[in-house]
Amino acid sequence: MKQSFSHGRTKNVVVETKRKRVVVPKPGAPSKSGGASSGGDPSKRPAGLSEAELERRKKALAAAKARESEEAEKRAADERAREEERNRRRAEVEAKEREEREREERAQAKADEDKRRLEAEAAEKAAAAEAAAKAKAGPAPVEEKRGPAGGGSPNKPSSPPKRPERERDDRNRNNRGRGDDGGRRSGKLTLNQALTGGDGRHRSVAAMKRKQERMRQKAMGGAENREKVVRDVQVPESIVVSELANRMAERVADVVKALMNNGMMLTQNQSIDADTAELIVEEFGHRVQRVSDADVEDVIDTVEDADDDLIARPPVITVMGHVDHGKTSVLDAIRNAKVVSGEAGGITQHIGAYQVDQGGDLLTFLDTPGHAAFTSMRARGAQVTDIVVLVVAADDAVMPQTIEAINHAKAAEVPMIVAINKIDLPAAQPDKVRTDLLQHEVMVEKMSGEVQDVEVSAIKGTGLNELLEAIALQAEILELKANPNRAASGAVIEAQLDVGRGPVATVLVQNGTLKQGDIFVVGEQWGKVRALVNDKGDRVKEAGPSVPVEVLGLNGTPEAGDVLNVVDTEAQAREIAEYRQDAAKDKRAAAGAATTLEQLMANAKADETVAELPILVKADVQGSAEAIVQAMEKIGNDEVRVRVLHSGVGAITESDIGLAEASRAPVFGFNVRANAPARNSANQKGVEIRYYSVIYDLVDDVKAAASGLLSAEVRENFIGYAQIKEVFRVTKVGNVAGCLVTEGVARRSAGVRLLRDNVVIHEGTLKTLKRFKDEVPEVQSGQECGMAFENYDDIRQGDVIEIFEREEVERTLA
Ligand code: GDP
Repeated sequence: MKQSFSHGRTKNVVVETKRKRVVVPKPGAPSKSGGASSGGDPSKRPAGLSEAELERRKKALAAAKARESEEAEKRAADERAREEERNRRRAEVEAKEREEREREERAQAKADEDKRRLEAEAAEKAAAAEAAAKAKAGPAPVEEKRGPAGGGSPNKPSSPPKRPERERDDRNRNNRGRGDDGGRRSGKLTLNQALTGGDGRHRSVAAMKRKQERMRQKAMGGAENREKVVRDVQVPESIVVSELANRMAERVADVVKALMNNGMMLTQNQSIDADTAELIVEEFGHRVQRVSDADVEDVIDTVEDADDDLIARPPVITVMGHVDHGKTSVLDAIRNAKVVSGEAGGITQHIGAYQVDQGGDLLTFLDTPGHAAFTSMRARGAQVTDIVVLVVAADDAVMPQTIEAINHAKAAEVPMIVAINKIDLPAAQPDKVRTDLLQHEVMVEKMSGEVQDVEVSAIKGTGLNELLEAIALQAEILELKANPNRAASGAVIEAQLDVGRGPVATVLVQNGTLKQGDIFVVGEQWGKVRALVNDKGDRVKEAGPSVPVEVLGLNGTPEAGDVLNVVDTEAQAREIAEYRQDAAKDKRAAAGAATTLEQLMANAKADETVAELPILVKADVQGSAEAIVQAMEKIGNDEVRVRVLHSGVGAITESDIGLAEASRAPVFGFNVRANAPARNSANQKGVEIRYYSVIYDLVDDVKAAASGLLSAEVRENFIGYAQIKEVFRVTKVGNVAGCLVTEGVARRSAGVRLLRDNVVIHEGTLKTLKRFKDEVPEVQSGQECGMAFENYDDIRQGDVIEIFEREEVERTLA
C-alpha cells in the first residue's frame, strides 16, 4: 500500500494500518528484532537447516504472525471505531432532523397564532372604531379601560389627539403578545411576513449558533472519545509539534498547552526531540512507537524474502589489521593475481571494491582497508561485511590496531580469518602470532581453535590461494543468500563528486538487483540510475547481490555507509530525500538550539560585542571531519566562538564556496582540494580556502584567529597543477608519470602532492622532472613532462599533481 506523505499526515485509519509496517523486521537484522520471542511451529521445520537459520526463520515466522494478528486486531479496532463513528453521526443527523421538525412546527404554530391574533385585533379595531363612533353619543366601551397607558379618564369625552394614543396602545398590546420572541423585529412584523416565514434570516443565525454550540460540544465530547482510542504514535528522532498533534489526533493547541505545562514554550511549527515527544504522547495516554524514520519511508520495500526466493550470493570481505602489516599489499596481491590470470587486458578501476573469481566462486573485497571505514559504515546502519580478514605481520605479531580490529569484528559478529603476512621474512614468527592471538580470545585452527589461519606473503604471492580458499570455505559455512528478483537495496562504499560525471557513488548491492533506470533514494540524496560501471570499468545494465558498481545519476553526493533503496517513483524518492534532509536539519537544531541559544543569551548579556567565527570544513574521511568539528566546538572564549557551518567529506565544491561567501566564512580543506569550478568561484568571490594535512595545525590556526593572534607564518602557495596522462614503469627509477602541466608551473625544487579525486594521497618531493629525456628545473603550463616522486610509487592515470612552494605571509582568516 503506497501513500504519499501528505496523506500519511492525515489522521486516517488506513494510515495507521500502514504505519504498522515499520515494525516489520528489516532483512539483515531479522534475528535482532524483538517482540517475536515466541517460537514458530515446529512442524514447519524444513529439512537440513542450520540451527541459526532455523532460529532466524522461526523468528521471522513469529514476527509475521504477530504482525498478522496485530493487524487483524487493528482492523477490528478500526472497524469498531468506524462503526461507532457511523452510529454517532446517524444519531446526530437524526437529532438534527428532529430539532428541525420541531422548530418548523413551532414556527407554524406561532404563525397560526399570530394570524389568529391579528385577525382578532383587526376585528377588535373595527369594533373599537365602531365604539368610538358610538362614544360620541355614549360612554366609552368597557374594553377601553383595560388600556395600560390609561389614556384619559373613561368618562372624558374622546378628542382627536386621543386616537393616536389608542393606536399606540394597540401596538403595545400587540407587542406584548409576541414578547417572547423579542421586541426588535415585532415592530416590522406584517401578516405577510408571519405567514411566509419571513423570519428565515433570523432562523439561520440561530441555526448557526446552535451549530457552533453543537460543534463545541462535539469537540469536547469528541476529545473524550478520542482519548479512549489509544493510538500507536510513531515518534521519530525529531518531530514538529503540529505533526505530533496530528499523529496523536489531538488538537495542536492542547499539545502546545501540554508542552507549556512541562515548561516548554514552543509554537506548533517548532520541533521537539524524541524524548520530549514521548513524554507528551504518554501524557495524552497514547502508546509511543519510536522510529528512526518517518512514514514517508514506508514506500521502501521492507518485506522479508521468502526462503524459496533466496539464492546464494558472494561473500563481502573487509581486510583489517595494524598499519604496515600489509593490508593494502594483500588486497593488491589478490587483485593482481586474479586480474592477470583472469581478465583480458588486466585493467582494473579503483571503485572501492572488487570481485575475484575463486574456482567458480565469486568473492567481493572491499578495497578500503582500515577500521574507520568499517565502523563508520556500521554506524550508519550499513553492515556490509560478511568476513573479516585480519592481517597480522609475522615479524611483528599483535599490535594495538590488531586488537581494535578483533574487537570491531566481534562487535559486528562477523567471522574472522587470520592472514599471517610477511611469512617470507627471516624474522617471521607465525607461531608467536598465533599464541599472541590467544590472549585476545582468538583461537586459530592450528591451536585447535575455530578461526582459520593462513600464512601468506603478499610480496611473494605465497599462500594467497589458500587464503582465498579459506574465505570461500567460510562463506560456504555462512550460507549467504539474497533475492535477486526484487527492488535493490545496497550500501555506499565510496562517493565523490566527479568533475566530468557529477556525483558518483560506489554501491555494494546487498539484496535485489539494481538496474539502469531504477529510481532510488540514498541517504539524503536521490537519483535515477543513468549508468552502472563495474570494477573492471565496463558499463553494465544491472548489478545483483554482492556486486559493487559505480552508480551515476545522483542529484548529490551521498556519504559512505548511506543505504540505497530503490523506490517506485521519482516523487517518492525526492520526498524521502527531502524528509531526511529536513530531519537531519531538525535533529541538529533540536540538539543544538537550547545550548546555543542559552550561550548566545549569556554571551549577549555579558558582552554585546561577542563575535562568531563561522567556518566550513571539508575532509578526506568522515573520521577527520568529525574530529575537526569536535575540536572546533571546543574553541572559543567570551569574545568569540567558532561555528562550523558545514562539514563534509570530499572535494570543496562550488556550493561550499557559495555557503562560505554568504556567511563570510573561510573554507578549510583537510587533505582535500577545491575542484576547478570551486577554485574559480572562490577567487571571484574572495573566499579564502586553506588547506591542511595536520589537524593540530588547523586547530591552532583557528584558535589563533579566534583570539585575534594570527601572526606571520610560513604558508604554502600553489604554483602549479599537472595532470597525469600516462604512467610508465622505468627500471631502477620506478613509476614515472607522463604529465601535462595544466596550470602555472612545475618546479623541480617545489613540494608536490598527489591528488586522486581531489583528495591528497601523498605529499613529498620530486625525484625527477624531465622534459624530453632532459632533467629540467621548470616546466610551464601547457607543456608535457615526466615526473617521479621521491619514495612513492602509487601513481595512476588521471591523478593530479599539485606543486607548491612555501613562503612567509601575514596570516588572515576570513
Ligand atoms: P598496510 O598499512 O597494512 O596497508 O600495509 P602495506 O600494504 O602498505 O604494507 C606495509 C609495508 O609492508 C610495505 O612496505 C610492504 O611492501 C610491506 N609488505 C607487505 N606485505 C609484505 C610481505 O608479504 N612481505 C614483505 N617482506 N613485506 C611486505
